[in-house]
Amino acid sequence: MRAVLRRTKIVATLGPATESDAAIDSLIKAGVDVVRLNFSHGTPDEHRARAEKIRRIGLDNNRHLAILADLQGPKIRLKKFKAGSIDLAVGDSFCLNIECPDGEGDSDQVGVTYGKLAQDVGSEDILMLDDGRVVLQVDKVEGPRIDCTVRVGGELSDNKGINLKGGGLTAEVLTDKDRADVKTAALIDADYLAVSFPRNAADMNQARRLLDAEGCSAGLVAKIERAEALDNLEEIIAASDAIMIARGDLGVEIGDAKLPAVQKQIISKARSMNCVVITATQMMESMRDSPIPTRAEVFDVANAVLDGTDAVMLSAETATGTYPSETVRSMSDICLNAEQHSRAIKSRHRLDDTFERVDEAIAMATMYTANHLNVRAIASLTESGSTALWMSRISSGIPIFALSRHQSTNRKVNLYRGVFPVDFPTIHTNHAEANQEAVELMKKQGSIADGDLVIITKGDLMGTGGGTNAMKIVEVGNMPDFIA
Ligand code: PGA
Ligand code: MN
Repeated sequence: MRAVLRRTKIVATLGPATESDAAIDSLIKAGVDVVRLNFSHGTPDEHRARAEKIRRIGLDNNRHLAILADLQGPKIRLKKFKAGSIDLAVGDSFCLNIECPDGEGDSDQVGVTYGKLAQDVGSEDILMLDDGRVVLQVDKVEGPRIDCTVRVGGELSDNKGINLKGGGLTAEVLTDKDRADVKTAALIDADYLAVSFPRNAADMNQARRLLDAEGCSAGLVAKIERAEALDNLEEIIAASDAIMIARGDLGVEIGDAKLPAVQKQIISKARSMNCVVITATQMMESMRDSPIPTRAEVFDVANAVLDGTDAVMLSAETATGTYPSETVRSMSDICLNAEQHSRAIKSRHRLDDTFERVDEAIAMATMYTANHLNVRAIASLTESGSTALWMSRISSGIPIFALSRHQSTNRKVNLYRGVFPVDFPTIHTNHAEANQEAVELMKKQGSIADGDLVIITKGDLMGTGGGTNAMKIVEVGNMPDFIA
């Protein structure tokens, strides 16, 4: 029996709970495909050390782990209190005061990290603090003072986040810290760079220019976590290689109840535009301190798979939780089971489309054939991974093996749903020889056996990006010999 391959990819965030070699090794063995370095925490040196560790232990495990560097962005936060925290009751008056120094907050007022907050809000606005656990309504704004009434009370402690309900804060997307962190991301050769709180395509283009200036070809991930980003969704998708449904901040801005419908809409839009999607935040939250998930979490992960997400992401569960590898294993199991549902296998995707590119048309023809003929696997000989990307936008139960000589391509495609990277070091001039080698490699790793049908795609000029112009169906163990 061949092992069933999990198509949905797992992104796990590293943190104190997953610092040691042994912890990273067990995360990888549990099935992590992409590792997220959260630049909201830690120093450049720490990120460099982590990246080195991930690459080393990934190789030890024979895996093409991709690294996702996630910029902090302009997250607006409270400054610190004298006593570390305060308690607010419904109806209390409380002031956010731009001029209140760090560490001087008390039960009347506290400072904030964004100097222009007083210009961006007005009376009646609702401010959500600490992910909405405490809610303030603005009464009036006067100079540096934002005077509020507490609508939902509770404890408020140092550095908690602030969101404006409905969105509309004007903070610059790439902070000075982000700009420095882009350099770190380039230095560690990150495979993906996530931009936090982008509002539009221009924000993404700005990040792209910074990456280009560093000579870094990381894929760009837009975190959809502002209300305004939803209004500009198409242009953001067009300017990005992948998007992340950052349900934490997005839920606070638009209200959690809107999230499920928005998630479906974002995933379907992204897939139709050949963009990759990561579904993030609180997917397995209870497993931070429980060895099993809640049933609601099982459904959440499974529903994201059925919605068509490429990847599901873990944050605190693996960064600070008690059960990091158990969480990954459990998530993996849920994905595998959800992938058996017919909705995850059948596709009506782009049936009415016309294609502009030959390589894209070959990718579509391959998937149509694979889904309608008894094919065991697809082998896509690829330079940049784009043929595999197009293929992976089509729902299917057939594994798509991306065979590339570039390590960077192999790591990048490891985020794509249903795509499995394979090192393919040689460029052949003889096509029969290339077909043989591809089939031998996949046979050796146990993905195919004699008698299986396999579809191979490649270009006349192997080793040239964007050149895929052929699909070939071969029977393993019954291929014509090539003339060497
Ligand atoms: P964060 O992004 O974890 O960096 O805040 C994810 C989210 O907002 O959901
Ligand atoms: Mn966020």
